[in-house]
Amino acid sequence: MSQPLRRTKILATLGPATDAPGVLAGLVRAGVNVVRLNFSHGTPEQHAARVAAVREAAAEQGREVGILADLQGPKIRIEKFAGGKVSLAAGDEFSLLCRADAPPGDAGQVGVSYLGLVNDVHPGDTLLLDDGLMAVEVLAIEGDRIRTRVLTDGVLSDRKGLNRLGGGLSLGALTDQDKDHIRIAAGLGVDFLAVSFCRSAADMDEARALAVAAGSDAFLVAKIERAEAIENLVEITRASDVVMVARGDLGVEIGDAELPGLQKKIIRTALEHNRIVITATQMLQSMVDNPIPTRAEVLDVANSVIDGTDAVMLSAETASGSYPVKAVEAMVRICLGAERQFDHDTDFEKAQRGLERADQAIAMASMFLTEHIDVRAIVALTESGGTARFLSRFRSKVPIYGLSRHDGARRRMALVRDVFPVNFDSAGQSTREAARGAVRHLHGLGLLAEGDRVIITSGDHMELHGATNTLRLLKVGPGGAAEGLGEL
Ligand code: PGA
Ligand code: MN
Repeated sequence: MSQPLRRTKILATLGPATDAPGVLAGLVRAGVNVVRLNFSHGTPEQHAARVAAVREAAAEQGREVGILADLQGPKIRIEKFAGGKVSLAAGDEFSLLCRADAPPGDAGQVGVSYLGLVNDVHPGDTLLLDDGLMAVEVLAIEGDRIRTRVLTDGVLSDRKGLNRLGGGLSLGALTDQDKDHIRIAAGLGVDFLAVSFCRSAADMDEARALAVAAGSDAFLVAKIERAEAIENLVEITRASDVVMVARGDLGVEIGDAELPGLQKKIIRTALEHNRIVITATQMLQSMVDNPIPTRAEVLDVANSVIDGTDAVMLSAETASGSYPVKAVEAMVRICLGAERQFDHDTDFEKAQRGLERADQAIAMASMFLTEHIDVRAIVALTESGGTARFLSRFRSKVPIYGLSRHDGARRRMALVRDVFPVNFDSAGQSTREAARGAVRHLHGLGLLAEGDRVIITSGDHMELHGATNTLRLLKVGPGGAAEGLGEL
């Protein structure tokens, strides 16, 4: 292959900038693996049109592109101002009105979308507005009015977000609107469903039950962006397929200085539990307006790759920025650079603890072999993609080709680091035939060459999930015919 394989995956958020002619095809060509539909904005018709456009661009270019639907969740917002915005100065008194019929806001007060806020805050609390750009301190609660003092000068405009420093707001993760959106997302056949502001495993279980009832097999993404989610990190991770380091809201709730340590902790926890992990928000923020990233942004993306993230995400950079395709190209370049220098480490000590099933044992053995003999790739014949994902948790030095006949399984594998999904149907074949067919197929695609040695994992009953029980070592012969490997 002319292009080196990029192991770290790229997620790009869709928005007005990607609706412009040719941009979506440009993102796919540049290497986007998964796109995000932000259900905080847009109508069901717009989401449906974007899903159709993504599927079309992917099919045209012969690429596997997953789709992630991101639920709005209980994001608290202030309501609108009579004049669109107000200027506030440190020391000003400003009230938040927790009632449904609050009048349009002015320099003294504004309504709030979450009426229960009045019961969740106490004098002395710090509330952060507009992603922390403005802070106010709670002075007193009077009926449905929260009286505050402004701590920093600034301009406040319509519908800006509100967080409480330290978390602790009692509202649940799924609003009635989110429940509707789960059904809409299921109907659109999305591959991933992200739960915003989850607090506990129960939030994830509830979302999964709704998704399954709506006929969805999407992977569930837990967005870690509340202080409570950090306390319950392990149980949330277990209840999810994917976790997201949602640095935007998380930084506001717990303070930006905690982010570097938490990013590493969330990534480590996800990998230890055989889960996928996305690092998100402001990764190339300056590229909203500029065609090149800052050095600090380059280092941030590279460091998340070194931390072990599966995927890096672009938000406003692609959704509403001036250089969406250039932002993806920058991500590609930075990921490849970091991977070149990233000293892979395969920590078998750590891995063994989670060994519970035959397919995990096969994955372990495969990874051990790649450390000791020269193989070109690992090929996983997999129904659900599960074996490929488990293989990838070891961060080996060779690519993992995940071969599945299921479109959804391949698109879910598109988010997994080191895994390259390939369409291949081996139903009804013996594992021996299937392994040989797979080698021939990958040779035909130019992914394997004569003389390469490969490890192939497969199961006796390829129709069954988790049935992987076989490991083969083969060598690619003339014309892609697989040969047994007598000598190492
Ligand atoms: P958002 O989530 O972009 O939906 O707010 C990510 C984050 O908070 O970092
Ligand atoms: Mn968020």
